Amino acid sequence: MRLRIVVFRVNELNILGEPAGGEHHHCWRCGHDPAPEPAEPLSLFCQFCNTLQPPVPDYYAFFNLPRELALDLAELQRKFYALSRLLHPDRYTRAAERERKYSLEATAILNDGYRVLRDPVERAEYVLKEAGFDLGEQRSRDVPPELLEEVFELNMALDELKSGDQSAVPQLVESRASFQQMLGEIDGELAGQFRRHDHSEAREARHTILEQIRKILNRRRYIRNLVSEVDRQLTAHGA
Ligand SMILES: [Zn+2]
Repeated sequence: MRLRIVVFRVNELNILGEPAGGEHHHCWRCGHDPAPEPAEPLSLFCQFCNTLQPPVPDYYAFFNLPRELALDLAELQRKFYALSRLLHPDRYTRAAERERKYSLEATAILNDGYRVLRDPVERAEYVLKEAGFDLGEQRSRDVPPELLEEVFELNMALDELKSGDQSAVPQLVESRASFQQMLGEIDGELAGQFRRHDHSEAREARHTILEQIRKILNRRRYIRNLVSEVDRQLTAHGA
């Protein structure tokens, strides 16, 4: 019985103690172990021979940023520029083929990671996916229950406009403004959940908050699609 508890704790430690994508490998060129706390910029380079190492595809690990949702965008940008310089193709024209290959891989991760992490919605979706959430197709199809009535009326007005009835235009314009305001509120709500997430250390608590965030993101996407549809129809009908 005691043994089982110990084993469980060890496993738990392994899961929690290992930063995602942060496995340490010997340098492929000089064979040195990486320094325990790699200096900036990052552990991309061997601290002993300065050779580029196989890049880690995890965006947070790649940028050496804490796994937070309310990211410091200025710091992200600073790291992006520093890494861009270090990974510039001119630096690798005379490098070994293996290092050149790593520099191309690292550049791709750098650009994708920067695009994803600097956008709050994409960043949250990335963290959700990494945490095992399924962000599949049906995520934004269902009407959020609290919006049923408004969406019903909006669709009626859209049908009128499509059949050539311009009298629906003022209602659609008003409705669009109201949904746009909702988007603003949702972004504020998301920012609050991001901070809650970052302040929660425990895995369970984070998971619960991520579930909330996923719901908010679904609602956000649904409303954004509505607003785009109203835009499209108003433009198509010269309103
Ligand atoms: Zn080395």
